[in-house]
Amino acid sequence: MRSVLYPGSFDPVTAGHMDIIRRASMAFDRVVVGILHNPQKPSGAVPLDKRLALLRMAAKELTNVEVTAFSGLLVEAAGAANVDAVLRGIRSTLDTEDELMMARLNRQIGQVETVFMAASPEVSHISATYVRQIARLHGDIRGLVPETVREEIIRLLTQPQ
Ligand code: ADP
Repeated sequence: MRSVLYPGSFDPVTAGHMDIIRRASMAFDRVVVGILHNPQKPSGAVPLDKRLALLRMAAKELTNVEVTAFSGLLVEAAGAANVDAVLRGIRSTLDTEDELMMARLNRQIGQVETVFMAASPEVSHISATYVRQIARLHGDIRGLVPETVREEIIRLLTQPQ
């Protein structure tokens, strides 16, 4: 297995995402990080172009990692990115039911395999949802997000929309 597409909302990128991206960059030849967005719906808490910029900055040193955005079916994005499989991170059993269903559906509708990577215990409690809440309430997100983009994430989440 040489290349993978790692899809997600990354709204915003967290230390948990980076744990998976860093380890995947060692395990695979090529890692495409795909930010899933829906052009029909308003963007997430962090606008799509900023989410792309944050991820690119956070993964700057990882030369076999590309960051892109896609909409529509994951199986089509995997085909367009020319990857061997989809990669998902598993934090706990709470993730597994949904992930197994999605993996089986993607194999059925698009013959796309999914590989799972277990979250490192140090970051398995981190979710972008809680990072957003903590940052908006001016809590300390040090260690929860990549340090190189921490201030920018705080700025984006606390500035008036
Ligand atoms: P989604 O909305 O698709 O779950 P996320 O941006 O929240 O998108 O997550 C993208 C991927 O990263 C998913 O596979 C998710 O399980 C994984 N992930 C999220 N947080 C962590 C974490 N703390 N440790 C490891 N993997 C994580």
